[in-house]
Amino acid sequence: MRSQLQRFISFAFAAADLLFEVGDRGEIRFALGAALTLTDRRDDELIGRNWLDLFDPADRKAVRDLAAALGPQGRSGPLEVRMAAAGPGSEPARRASLSACRLAGPQEWLSCVLTALPAAGDPGADLVGIEDFVEAACKAGEAGANMTLVEAPGLVGLAQSNPAMCNTLVQRISTLLRNSAVDGNAAARLGEARFGVTHRGSETILRKGLADITEEGARNGIDLGLSTHDMALDAGGLGQDELLQAVRFAVNRFSARGPAAALPGSMTQAFEQMVDTAIRRMNDFAEVVREEKFDLSFQPIVELATGALHHFEVLARFTDGTSPFEKVQFAEEIGVIEKFDFAVCTRSVSAMRSRDREPGTGPLRLAINLSGQSLENSVFIRLLLALLDENRDLAGRLSLEITESARLRDLARADQVIQEVRRRGFAVYLDDFGAGAASFQYLQALAIDGVKIDGSYIRRIGGSRRDDTLLRGLVRLCGDLEIGTIGEMVETAAQSDFLRGIGVTLGQGWLFGKAAPTPVWTPKRLEPVASPRLRGRRQGVMESWS
Ligand code: C2E
Ligand code: CA
Ligand code: CA
Repeated sequence: MRSQLQRFISFAFAAADLLFEVGDRGEIRFALGAALTLTDRRDDELIGRNWLDLFDPADRKAVRDLAAALGPQGRSGPLEVRMAAAGPGSEPARRASLSACRLAGPQEWLSCVLTALPAAGDPGADLVGIEDFVEAACKAGEAGANMTLVEAPGLVGLAQSNPAMCNTLVQRISTLLRNSAVDGNAAARLGEARFGVTHRGSETILRKGLADITEEGARNGIDLGLSTHDMALDAGGLGQDELLQAVRFAVNRFSARGPAAALPGSMTQAFEQMVDTAIRRMNDFAEVVREEKFDLSFQPIVELATGALHHFEVLARFTDGTSPFEKVQFAEEIGVIEKFDFAVCTRSVSAMRSRDREPGTGPLRLAINLSGQSLENSVFIRLLLALLDENRDLAGRLSLEITESARLRDLARADQVIQEVRRRGFAVYLDDFGAGAASFQYLQALAIDGVKIDGSYIRRIGGSRRDDTLLRGLVRLCGDLEIGTIGEMVETAAQSDFLRGIGVTLGQGWLFGKAAPTPVWTPKRLEPVASPRLRGRRQGVMESWS
């Protein structure tokens, strides 16, 4: 079981396409993932084959060297490799990145992960992502470089309507930017129709090149609508960290479709804009909490086996009816989320109390979202435990979902708090499970009642064998650890059936009901589950808080 857990850790950690393990004779002992796209064989067909056969003969020595370089518990890679061709005359070799590690354990197997790399001919494949670009720009800023942001609205939707033309134009822009860039990481694609480059005084060359590309587009009936925005990167009076934040702010603002007019012209200006925005949002949020300018909404969570209501999740709604997602995230960033979380806790308890007073209604069962950050705040912890102590009779009816657990820095301390809560009879779930690479480590470090499987897994159900296998493995792992599972964002009956079939206990999503201002529930009929053995076992697990 431990080794299964570790496989998942390394797999999730690498976000790889294929995970495999190699025995001491070079034979593949275990394989999981999208093997077909890399090797022309399914993962189960790889078992027993020699791992070196996966790679192009010319790269096998480098692969052997990578393994030889590993100590008893080391990690090495990534190494760029070409995969073996499927047969004579087949497509050009697929490229992938290979990393290997040796995990501590009874068998000294080599664990390897392979991630497909974009084919050399993919347009824009040679440009980097936002974070690398921001870092490169900061470094170059010290040497007096400039940044030019390029917008080409004519590319929007072109990938669908005319993919060949889209590829050509994107490739032309990429090549132009890369050739002007100060280094390999200084040219980036920042969105479907947005690009950035850090360069030294190449404005004229860039403009000339872009004019040529505009003409080429026009000759083919496409109006690219190219525009550019130049920014000096010098730090002015900003420190290293401030410059990094300012560059990130400017680039994010551009990539999130800010109109060119609102972009800063220098990094000191970017920093001022950032601080202004932060202060305005901070004041807004403080007011929301102080004046309780928010409402609760309630989304049903049902037993997948019977379709019966299990409890409601409390979701905050601001007075303008908007999703709390952005505000909550911002409050986490600036470290004030715990005040909000506590306000939601007290409001939820009041909602349960007032329901208890209504004649003819059953007891209300609620789950509250708590940011992982709040769990690290000692004032919040004291208030929360006091609130639970005052309301001991709600044990078994009130549970907590820890969101943004990725931000937990001190897992041992968080676990202590979680156990204090559970000792009082209140269940604790980890939210968005599987979304962050670290989720699996939390299973080892935190004793919890269950996990909420992140909606991104549910959305991909039926999409690929690899994803389905991963989800099934994840649920099995939770079963082995004897913790409950909730699938969120269930929108279709097919998703619900799949989850039920693999042993997920509870489900939440638009299929069962959207969040509503009052906790009301209209039951829907669902077919009974196919596998009674799995169901019995998982249901037993849930009894802890029902
Ligand atoms: P979450 O806890 O993962 O909540 C699930 C989100 O998915 C909710 O969005 C919900 O309305 C939405 N959703 C539910 N079912 C479906 C579905 O079938 N399809 C789709 N597409 N969406 C569905 P919402 O209410 O906008 O909340 C967003 C996030 O904000 C929450 O994610 C949670 O992380 C945070 N949040 C909400 N209320 C609170 C709160 O009181 N305290 C804290 N700390 N965070 C909160
Ligand atoms: Ca939640
Ligand atoms: Ca979630």
